[in-house]
Amino acid sequence: MRSKNILDEISDGKLYDIGDMVKADTGGCTGCSDCCKDVGDLVVLTPFDVNEIVNFLGVSFDELLGDKIVLRETNKISLPYLKMQDKNKYCSFLNKEGRCTIHSKRPNICRLFPLGRVYKGDDFKYFLQIGNCPKDNLQEVKVESWLGIDNYDENKKFILEWHKFIKALTFRLK
Ligand code: SF4
Ligand code: SF4
Repeated sequence: MRSKNILDEISDGKLYDIGDMVKADTGGCTGCSDCCKDVGDLVVLTPFDVNEIVNFLGVSFDELLGDKIVLRETNKISLPYLKMQDKNKYCSFLNKEGRCTIHSKRPNICRLFPLGRVYKGDDFKYFLQIGNCPKDNLQEVKVESWLGIDNYDENKKFILEWHKFIKALTFRLK
C-alpha cells in the first residue's frame, strides 16, 4: 500500500472513484508504448489476469511461463509477472508495431495507467500518476470508461479478496 506522503509526490493529490472524471485519456497512445517498457517488476498478475490471458490465447499457463511470464519471489511468495524481452526490455506481449497483442485482455495494472490504485481499509481508490506518461494534454474521461472492465463489481470484489489474501499470507510467512 502506498503511504499518503508518497501519493502526494507522485499524484495530483486527489483520489478518484469509478464514476469520477479524471484527466487520464491519452487519446489512443499513438506512437507511444513507454509504459510497456521495463515494467517487469511492476506488473504482477492476479489469477484473474492469468485466466483471462490463457483463455484469450488458447494456451496453458505453463506454455507462457518463461517466454511471456516469469515467476518472482517477494516476501517468500512466488507470483507471476510480465516478462520483458532481453534485447530491448519491452514487454513480451508487445508486437513490432508497438501494440499490445493481448490488449482486450491486458492485465488489470496495465489498464489503469496513468492511473494507480491505493488501498484504504477494505476498499481502494484510484489516483492519477503525474510525470510518468509523456503524452501532453491528457483529456478528461470517466474512470469507468478508461478501465473498460466488464463485470466491474465482480472484478473489484476479486481484487480486494486477492489483496487481502496476499496480505494475510505475507503476515503469516513473516
Ligand atoms: S506512456 Fe502514456 S501514452 Fe505512452 S503508451 Fe503508456 S499510457 Fe499511452
Ligand atoms: S501486457 Fe500489453 S499493455 Fe501490459 S505492458 Fe505488456 S504490452 Fe503493455
